[in-house]
Amino acid sequence: MKKEHENNPEEIKNRYMIYENDLKTLNNFLYHNPELGNEEYKAKEKHLELLIKNNFIEEKVNIENKTAYLAKYSSKNKGPVICYMAEYDALPEIGHGCGHNILGVTSIGAGLILKDYVDKYGGTVIVLGTPAEETNGCKVDMAKVGIFDNIDVAMISHPTSKGHYSSGTSQAMEALEFKFIGKTAHGAGNPSDGINALDAAVNFYVAMNSLKTQITSEGSICGIISNGGVAANIIPDVSVLNYYVRANTVEYLQELVKEVKKCAEGIAMATGTKVEINNYEYSFKNLVSNEYLSEIYKKNLILQGINEIFIPKSKGSTDTGDVSHVCPSIHPSFPLTKSNISGHTVEFAEATIKEEAYEGMKESIFALVLTGIEILKNEKILIKIKEEFIKNKK
Ligand SMILES: [Zn+2]
Ligand SMILES: [Zn+2]
Repeated sequence: MKKEHENNPEEIKNRYMIYENDLKTLNNFLYHNPELGNEEYKAKEKHLELLIKNNFIEEKVNIENKTAYLAKYSSKNKGPVICYMAEYDALPEIGHGCGHNILGVTSIGAGLILKDYVDKYGGTVIVLGTPAEETNGCKVDMAKVGIFDNIDVAMISHPTSKGHYSSGTSQAMEALEFKFIGKTAHGAGNPSDGINALDAAVNFYVAMNSLKTQITSEGSICGIISNGGVAANIIPDVSVLNYYVRANTVEYLQELVKEVKKCAEGIAMATGTKVEINNYEYSFKNLVSNEYLSEIYKKNLILQGINEIFIPKSKGSTDTGDVSHVCPSIHPSFPLTKSNISGHTVEFAEATIKEEAYEGMKESIFALVLTGIEILKNEKILIKIKEEFIKNKK
């Protein structure tokens, strides 16, 4: 008689072997063909090729973004809808320095394996292609238009180094552009006829440095002067600064943004310039991990003999934050290597295609799949996950 070993990582390992070569080939292809956010046409095509080859169906997503996709596999029997979110955008100059090539492949691997258990227990598995995480994170729009309304849990596992990390928090963020407008004049001939927009920018930059020292550790401000004039002998009539303002909660972010805007307006008044303030990229909400779901994922790492799971201390922002406000979510990380390498570097990109990276990826895929199976099998688990989600929303 055939024994039921579905919750045994050994059984999942055998199923992984079926897809391993295709996953590695896809990861290598993406590494060698990095595409910036919203331009990930090749990545989308290759992702879908592998999913459709394995009986997933592409469904239209109600979103303008052309490089987004939704691939779905449903059982004839009703059950939970489990979503693995894929990313596949790269960074300028350094390619997949954030490892979104292997991130997307991890989600596809989890989706392909969970598919077999959807057949057995009922329900649906979705692999959701979410473009442009590094810039105009598409998950923000997806959350807004209701794509997650019919999804029970959303999971994503990001590459990192050193070891596995549990799902933590991320900061809410606003990307603000400040354009100071003055008046040109000859820098030596008649400087007093001009209104120096660069002076306003420098004053603002200094004011932001002062403000940084007065905010709590729950917030952060960083930025650059992206346009400081065109020639040394022309009084600049335009200057531009780009800033990221972040905070642990949406409420504190709103407070900080108010302060920052007040500074810009004050400096415009003092320097005789005008200031235009715009959001140059999407704003992200903070990540609220579903702890119940996160504990199941961690338990399924421990089941594989992984005993050291780090608690993340990262202060970045991600569009998964917006997802976590509309659907129970987790965003853990898996190691590409045991040594310490920073994200957003060429070294990190190179690490994504080394054999060692596939060890961490495999462990994360197994934990994602085992977590999915538990939700499909035992309806009480989803009830607990949703109870926590509703409590957090209050
Ligand atoms: Zn990144
Ligand atoms: Zn990333």
